[in-house]
Amino acid sequence: MDIVLTGDRPTGKLHLGHYVGSLKRRVEMQNTGKYDMHIMIADAQALTDNADDINKVRNNISEVALDYLSCGLDFDKSTIFIQSQIPELCELSFYYMNLVTVSRLQRNPTVKNEIHLRGFKQSVPVGFFTYPISQAADITAFKANLVPVGEDQLPMIEQTREIVRSFNSIYKEVLVEPTAVLPENSRCSRLPGLDGAAKMSKSLGNCIYLSDSSNDIKKKVQSMFTDPTHLRIEDPGHTENNPVFIYLDAFCRDEHFKAFLPAYANLAEMKAHYERGGLGDGTVKKFLNEILQAELKPIREKREELAKDLPYIFEKLHQGSQKAREVAAQTLDEVKTAMGINYFNGNSLIK
Ligand code: ATP
Ligand code: MG
Repeated sequence: MDIVLTGDRPTGKLHLGHYVGSLKRRVEMQNTGKYDMHIMIADAQALTDNADDINKVRNNISEVALDYLSCGLDFDKSTIFIQSQIPELCELSFYYMNLVTVSRLQRNPTVKNEIHLRGFKQSVPVGFFTYPISQAADITAFKANLVPVGEDQLPMIEQTREIVRSFNSIYKEVLVEPTAVLPENSRCSRLPGLDGAAKMSKSLGNCIYLSDSSNDIKKKVQSMFTDPTHLRIEDPGHTENNPVFIYLDAFCRDEHFKAFLPAYANLAEMKAHYERGGLGDGTVKKFLNEILQAELKPIREKREELAKDLPYIFEKLHQGSQKAREVAAQTLDEVKTAMGINYFNGNSLIK
């Protein structure tokens, strides 16, 4: 059976980027019943750039769990757990650190970009710098072969694969090389922010959250960047790097035209009109707003219901963490045996 591991940092509520980039896919995979699913709330990783803001991380654990469940993840079908409750992950990271060079981490494009975005300059926390290694521990602890993620995570999966190859060749074939599972629709691999920035990201505050009110969604869509050269309705417009059209690529289906904008049969027709001129941004945004409202309403309503019983959610997270810990402990045991440091299992050092 394929084993899946994926997760999110509890640095804020989850947004549309998470939804199309990874969450939707996880729910589909979970519901086939064909995968052994592990979903991690990566609080320890969130602390690598929020060490002085523990309450942000603590308070967002239940928010992320609520986002998961409201999108259809299910405690009975997936092991949903909290990273810091699995100390075995730290131990694995510690051994993996010896298999990675400083220069290799410095070359990781996602780490480079995130260091820049967070304004760390020369004061990068060591924990943050090494988080690709801790991510390798998360993935390998469960022997996951599939990791559903957005495009920004590809360098992390590559780093994990290198660690696995290195470990298996130095010690013994214990670890499994994972593969990233990107969204089928390439527009969803890196959904841009409302401001047109390269990525919608909790840390950049350019998000539509899954829990946003109907009014917030409407206001945020209205404030979105579009094509700066499309000044008057009759001007020809660009759809290619236009965030509103990227969101339509990600969310719009033909039936949305029937329901909300019957003047066009599909997105290709609408784009053609925008490109030759005569279609205003207001109409396009109104259409996008209708689609997002329809998609997010059931999620928001389910979330409101679930939020009434937080003790149940924490009880289930506790159980999930215990279950995950057993799996990670088994892998750690195999790792230590392969390395020859399980000194008290057997007496190989005495004989
Ligand atoms: P932070 O700013 O704290 O890093 P984030 O918004 O980047 O938060 P993460 O928790 O780091 O969110 O990412 C969780 C998962 O969601 C990862 O698999 C990541 O690739 C995916 N993801 C995050 N943002 C986007 C996006 N804009 N488009 C597609 N996938 C995304
Ligand atoms: Mg991130």
